[in-house]
Amino acid sequence: MERTDTKNLLELMERVMLLVHSEERAATRDPKFREVHLLALKYLGRCNRYSNTPSALGLYLGMTKGTVSQSVKVLEDRGLVEKYTDEADGRVIRLRLTQRGNTFVRKKLPSDALEATLLGEMTDRERDQLGSLLLKALRTIQSNTDGFVFGVCRTCRHFKERGLGTRHQCGLTGEPLLEVESSQICREHELAT
Ligand code: SF4
Repeated sequence: MERTDTKNLLELMERVMLLVHSEERAATRDPKFREVHLLALKYLGRCNRYSNTPSALGLYLGMTKGTVSQSVKVLEDRGLVEKYTDEADGRVIRLRLTQRGNTFVRKKLPSDALEATLLGEMTDRERDQLGSLLLKALRTIQSNTDGFVFGVCRTCRHFKERGLGTRHQCGLTGEPLLEVESSQICREHELAT
């Protein structure tokens, strides 16, 4: 078997993601939808309450304020995303998926067809192995990159399982975390050492 060097590996990962994005765009049946809109929807469907600001979205996507606000406008016009004011600080604007946006993300990102095509051929074991290897690659890149990691809460060094009796707890803010929040992504995430 031919050895896969880093360049080949990166090309494979890039090619897979291009195909995924192309399939997802096709599933929306909206020619005006661009990759950035789908990435923003997916992010807002997965981020936690500390991470749903336009600036966090920009950091996650690596995009400028202007590009983020244009993308948010497109999603607002389609009734998929809405802005709201933070209850504790009226100066902070937050973003969330509308009910329509939630349904859209659940049904189309990824679409059933894409899941079946891409993953239906793999065994559970192969899926787990691929997941572990990709996670390892992600962590390696993140640990060598400055800036926000945006990891899953449960894997953060501040996460305290059942830290407040029946609730989990964020050791950074001291606030309780619901079970559902433990699998959301957070801009404050820090990798456990
Ligand atoms: S435990 Fe970490 S990832 Fe979870 S909310 Fe706190 S800072 Fe964010």
